[in-house]
Amino acid sequence: MNLLDLNLIELENLLKENGFEKFRAKQIWDLIFKQGDWELKSQNNLPEKLINFIKEKTHIFPVKIKTEQKSKDGTIKWLVEVEGKKNVEMVYIPEERRNTLCISSQVGCTLNCKFCHTGTEIWKKNLSPAEIIGQVLLAKKQIGDFIKNSKTLTNIVFMGMGEPLLNYENVRKSCEILVDKNALDFSWKKITISTSGIVPNIIKMADEVKTSLAISFHAPNDELRTEIMPINKKYPIEMLLNACKNYIEKTKQMVTLEYVMLDGVNDSAEHAHELAQLTKRYKTKINLIPFNPWPGCEYKRTPMKKIKEFADIIENNNIGISIRKNRGNDILAACGQLQAAFQNGTVK
Ligand code: SF4
Repeated sequence: MNLLDLNLIELENLLKENGFEKFRAKQIWDLIFKQGDWELKSQNNLPEKLINFIKEKTHIFPVKIKTEQKSKDGTIKWLVEVEGKKNVEMVYIPEERRNTLCISSQVGCTLNCKFCHTGTEIWKKNLSPAEIIGQVLLAKKQIGDFIKNSKTLTNIVFMGMGEPLLNYENVRKSCEILVDKNALDFSWKKITISTSGIVPNIIKMADEVKTSLAISFHAPNDELRTEIMPINKKYPIEMLLNACKNYIEKTKQMVTLEYVMLDGVNDSAEHAHELAQLTKRYKTKINLIPFNPWPGCEYKRTPMKKIKEFADIIENNNIGISIRKNRGNDILAACGQLQAAFQNGTVK
């Protein structure tokens, strides 16, 4: 059993069932989440019997760093080993007003979005809550948050490898622990779950979690979206946007449509007008993403001038729009690239 898979009540119950006082659970969480001491090296206040129980019957930390790449702009990308000797990626992006960690939810993915490198990797497993929370703890340790007793890491986005809403229960539970005041005390709105549009789970999310929501949108009509993202056949645009509307109404959280700019594919002025007409009815914001090409990929990046023209059309329709800054250009920044390079031996 991994203790990081348990919320506080479950941990209290586990301790009680094994003859320990409930309040010990908070002491254990304090060591793990406030001090970053998941090996319980400084467990002065815990009885020896409890330490032995934890060491013999449970384990705590399931992820470790395999390799690290640092960009000149401060972006850090890690390849992280999870249980079963599988690897996922996480990226730390420091900015002026926030510092974001992009984490993974699955090893590989089943959805085959054509622009995505991870989509070329066979799905191997869903990450457990412990493996998801473990990524955040590890990143906080790497950037010195525990030593400095600081909260340098301000935002978390589920935009790494995998489709979070196809690992719904584990993602939901990890968010519940991340926002717990006794754990890492993140606010719901500083966590963003990004999905390709798994509609039934967006509807479920509206009742069960209150994170910000991002949709991998990428096309203004069903024909093009299905071509780029086959999942659109199952959950077409109208159905998806209605689920977003429901999410905004219920949670009062922001929904952002992510739109990766693919040269000559989805980036014409007509596409911009179509996107504006489509999204006018919904209170969503659009985030344009300059594409990060990867070896063997069929798409190219839209030139920045054209991205700005596209943005102007959307803005003239009074729709909130931003252009994502390209970060980590000098490292293997596109999702799935570092893992691929590690596998083929280009990176050690
Ligand atoms: S974009 Fe997300 S859902 Fe689509 S293949 Fe990549 S990881 Fe999977």
